[in-house]
Amino acid sequence: AKGHGRNHVCFYAPQMHEKILERVTLDTSFRLALQREEFVLYYQPQWDGERNMVGVEALVRWIHPTKGMISPGVFIPFAEESKLILPLGRWVMKNAMVQLAKWQENPSLSHLVMSINVSVLQFTTVDFVSEVEEALRQTGVNPAQVQLELTESMLVRDQLDIIQKMQALKTLGVLISLDDFGTGYSSLSYLQQLPIDQLKIDQSFTRAIEESDKQASLAASIIGLGQNLGMEVIAEGVETQAQFEWLKNHGCNLYQGFLLGRPQPSNEFVRTEEID
Ligand code: C2E
Ligand code: CA
Ligand code: CA
Ligand code: CA
Repeated sequence: AKGHGRNHVCFYAPQMHEKILERVTLDTSFRLALQREEFVLYYQPQWDGERNMVGVEALVRWIHPTKGMISPGVFIPFAEESKLILPLGRWVMKNAMVQLAKWQENPSLSHLVMSINVSVLQFTTVDFVSEVEEALRQTGVNPAQVQLELTESMLVRDQLDIIQKMQALKTLGVLISLDDFGTGYSSLSYLQQLPIDQLKIDQSFTRAIEESDKQASLAASIIGLGQNLGMEVIAEGVETQAQFEWLKNHGCNLYQGFLLGRPQPSNEFVRTEEID
């Protein structure tokens, strides 16, 4: 057993070293990636019940020079932990609005609402509202077509600060969506005080619809909640026709998912338009 113990040390020490090295490498390459603008935005369409495209969600990808495309599920947690989400978040905000400004000049795309993900750390910085204001001013987009996606999990912090920030954002004229809804624990009375325009049903609930009636009733109650609070309800992760129809029959307003369209680069939207 003792020998084993020693083997353990010998075995783990280099591995730990590797872990640290990996982190340092990631940190360096991430900083470089920001400088070299190795990030791109993909856009996933959002649809109404008649299958009209009404908006898109901007989703960031890292095009690594040797590793290829890296999905945000891999680097966003790291970016949050290292605070590098702050410069990345500013880049995303600015570039999504630059894209929206271009679309606003194209008659067939000018109606689209651009949804932009905001991380907890980004939202908690004191400069957040003025950064949004600055990006709106620089790009000249219609604020009513910019929607910020905040997650339900970020609502647990300083409630007064959150309410004030949201109200300041509403004064700028942007829309607020509550992402991953149903996975957090916000109370009804609290939700009622917040100027939220849209509830986004987390994809775990969409997936559960076909599993059992009991599971489906969860999605139904989120839709009901949104309706009662006067908010628009969008379902994410819609992958099957059955889910789409069920949601439609239960009063959901908007839909996003692989069934209706995957995240794609901006030029794909123009190409579709040109073919039509
Ligand atoms: P999210 O905000 O919940 O975004 C939805 C994710 O679900 C996206 O993954 C999207 O590609 C994926 N998705 C869309 N439709 C379907 C479907 O029908 N089935 C399934 N299985 N998945 C679907 P993606 O692009 O990999 O992004 C993952 C997460 O990374 C996002 O989750 C979001 O939390 C974060 N993220 C992405 N872009 C940004 C960003 O610019 N800023 C911040 N702070 N976070 C971002
Ligand atoms: Ca989102
Ligand atoms: Ca989501
Ligand atoms: Ca999600």
